Amino acid sequence: MQPTKSRNHSGILLSYKTENILMDCGEGIQRQMRIAGIKPAKITKLLISHWHGDHVFGIPGLLSTMGADKPDKKLQIYGPVGTKKYMEHLVQSFACKDLIEFEVIEVKQGVVFEGEEFKLIAEPLKHSSLCVGFSFIENDKRRINVAKAEKLGLQGPILGQLQDGEAVVFKGKKIMPDDVSVVVKGKKVSYIADTVVCNGTSALARDADLLISEGTHLDDIKEKSEKYMHLTVKEAALIASENNAKRLVITHISQRYKSAVEIREEAKMYFPDAVVAEDFMRIKV
Ligand SMILES: [Zn+2]
Ligand SMILES: [Zn+2]
Repeated sequence: MQPTKSRNHSGILLSYKTENILMDCGEGIQRQMRIAGIKPAKITKLLISHWHGDHVFGIPGLLSTMGADKPDKKLQIYGPVGTKKYMEHLVQSFACKDLIEFEVIEVKQGVVFEGEEFKLIAEPLKHSSLCVGFSFIENDKRRINVAKAEKLGLQGPILGQLQDGEAVVFKGKKIMPDDVSVVVKGKKVSYIADTVVCNGTSALARDADLLISEGTHLDDIKEKSEKYMHLTVKEAALIASENNAKRLVITHISQRYKSAVEIREEAKMYFPDAVVAEDFMRIKV
């Protein structure tokens, strides 16, 4: 909730081909990006979980820096109902004229973006402020078995059609996509922001290749955690294991914990493949 000497506010960047999706933007995120060697102007989408300061204090500065680069594309901002109003207020709060142009999409539940290569899904969470979590889901795609394709003499555009899942006729013979290709399942990356355990946490975690989840407190102060509507590390780990997530990163740790050792131990007790987030941590999915 407060940045510490070793931990910044929340901000997770998901890079996929030409897309750079920033999930939450706490105070100091643009400087963190500079240190990490990533240009803020490269961000294509901003996903806001909720409007508590530790998730949004960095937005105006970031938009101003992005605007200075004069990008030709509008930034798409996704957030819970109320985001349009908050953004209007924010823009009116200081003398700014060079913010990047943006468009706000308020989200509740379901598919909020669908592109050729991936989609974004929002799930409602339960917190003291209206909050949503997000899943990035890569579309399934077909991979051509080159040896099989060569054996049949297939090449050029016909391979493209098969890769798109279409049957083709080649030299008078019908060839089905499954004859020369296999479906490769797309990756799923989810972000569970501030919440208690709810349907949304399960939906986000289900079969995720990577689950990034808040885990604010250890289980010994579960009551306090519930009161402030946060997950304990144990709860986050159980959400991951019960919903078949493959990897878990615990983030949003209370400033009361000076070291990550206890957090890691509690998480691993219920989900062995858990790590605790550190500033500038990079994970390849
Ligand atoms: Zn919060
Ligand atoms: Zn928070």
